[in-house]
Amino acid sequence: MNPTPHRPAHPLFSRDARADDTVVRVGAARFGGAHVGVIAGPCAVESAARLFADADALEERGVQVLRAGAFKPRTSPYDFRGLGEAGLLMLAEARTRTGIAICTEVLAVDDVELVARHADLLQVGTRNMQNFPLLEALGRQDRPVLLKRGMASTIDELLSAAEYVLAAGNPNVILCERGVRGFEPRTRAMFDLNAVAVLRQLTHLPVIADPSHATGIASLVPAVAIGAVAAGASGVIIEASCDPAGAEVDGAQTIDMGTLEDVLDGLQCVAAVSGRTLGLSLPHSDADTARVMYGAGAA
Ligand code: PEP
Ligand code: MN
Repeated sequence: MNPTPHRPAHPLFSRDARADDTVVRVGAARFGGAHVGVIAGPCAVESAARLFADADALEERGVQVLRAGAFKPRTSPYDFRGLGEAGLLMLAEARTRTGIAICTEVLAVDDVELVARHADLLQVGTRNMQNFPLLEALGRQDRPVLLKRGMASTIDELLSAAEYVLAAGNPNVILCERGVRGFEPRTRAMFDLNAVAVLRQLTHLPVIADPSHATGIASLVPAVAIGAVAAGASGVIIEASCDPAGAEVDGAQTIDMGTLEDVLDGLQCVAAVSGRTLGLSLPHSDADTARVMYGAGAA
């Protein structure tokens, strides 16, 4: 058992504990304050060839953080559950090739050291948000943590989960709204835009949006991504690939690289009008937000 940490005067996540926005750095990317960051890539590492093609395409578009799961939490034990350590080695090679930073999920306490050796940002998935031993183990190492909201967790439960990481000594936590379980079957989850605005008030930690798992539908991803950043999100994590149709995991919600370019244009616009900067390693072309969000026919 870990010793119970001393209770601070105010929760460490709170604006009372720290008024200014925390800015979390991941490679060249920044999340929080005046910085809007982008994480993109396939759901899972499926093969070296697919991963490197995606990493190259993302790097060409200025994306600074590559996402891809080597350890995949799957609802059915018979589905593809990732390549494990071999996948981590491919991710490390993708970083060497492109300079892009790596975001990948850690499922278990026993894997923290291994994943932290290869990744720049350690993702806790929705199913593990209240895995307290995992949160404490992540608090004791020095990589930043991406904490996804449990699919049926309240905002306060998300903040308390973040507190576990902070109280164990790691101040670099990015929160992620990824949609919650609701009554609506047309989308995979219900994106809780309220949560983005509420969290901005309650915590100095950056909050990003995952429009891919929230919607489950690639064509809805641009609108939700851009809307979330307009509402104050400090970035997005998006499933994007050169070949969504060939993906073994989550292909239906994965956008292609052309759509990603449109999303980046829209995000750049929204970041600019809110006095923030979208972190891309390349200057990006002028945006056309209306077309991105409402389709080619929009005025
Ligand atoms: C993911 O981002 O790969 C993932 C599994 O997401 P979530 O935990 O939000 O379902
Ligand atoms: Mn996925």
